[in-house]
Amino acid sequence: MFFETAQGVYMSAYLAGEHATDDELELVAMDRLDPNRAGPLAIHLERCEFCRQRLAAEIRDIAALREGLRNPRQAET
Ligand SMILES: [Zn+2]
Repeated sequence: MFFETAQGVYMSAYLAGEHATDDELELVAMDRLDPNRAGPLAIHLERCEFCRQRLAAEIRDIAALREGLRNPRQAET
């Protein structure tokens, strides 16, 4: 099943061995990535130790941010 061209590009990029962007990993860490992108990205993460480590770092960063939250208006959209 295919959606927009943008998603098709995403899917091809992951299958071609492109790594996830920092932005995408941040969204995954916050559980906010579009499910249409999360699927192909999850497949990539299963295969890619590099991205798994970057995702783990993002999750740590976000946890730290939430711990030390000083300005809730910036954290929530
Ligand atoms: Zn990767």
